[in-house]
Amino acid sequence: MSQDNCLFCGIIAGDIPSEKVYEDDAVYAFKDINPKAKVHVLIVPKRHYPNVAVLAREDASLLAHIVEVAQSVADDAFHGEYRLVFNTGKDAGQTVFHVHAHVLTGEVLDE
Ligand code: C5P
Repeated sequence: MSQDNCLFCGIIAGDIPSEKVYEDDAVYAFKDINPKAKVHVLIVPKRHYPNVAVLAREDASLLAHIVEVAQSVADDAFHGEYRLVFNTGKDAGQTVFHVHAHVLTGEVLDE
């Protein structure tokens, strides 16, 4: 279910432009507008969950699916190696409260 005034619900609905990388019934993936690596993709479940902890509790298989999609992005971009980040909470850097996986890949990453 989408949520009013949610940026990523707007992107999934196509009301806000994005550069799509992958889509299926459960998730939408697009290029981050402010990339922190050569390839920086956000994977977002179509259903609104505020953060990864809530997603894990309510639909663990959807969280596993997000990891599978991340792997697939990195298989295509950089021999299957990647960093997967879920910022969780304002003080950890989360700015959009619709859970999203940051997939950072495409190059050797700093520690
Ligand atoms: O983890 P956090 O909530 O900070 O991540 C939000 C991400 O969404 C940022 O990396 C930002 O660049 C990205 N973003 C985007 N397209 C938008 C708005 C934000 O890719 N229209």
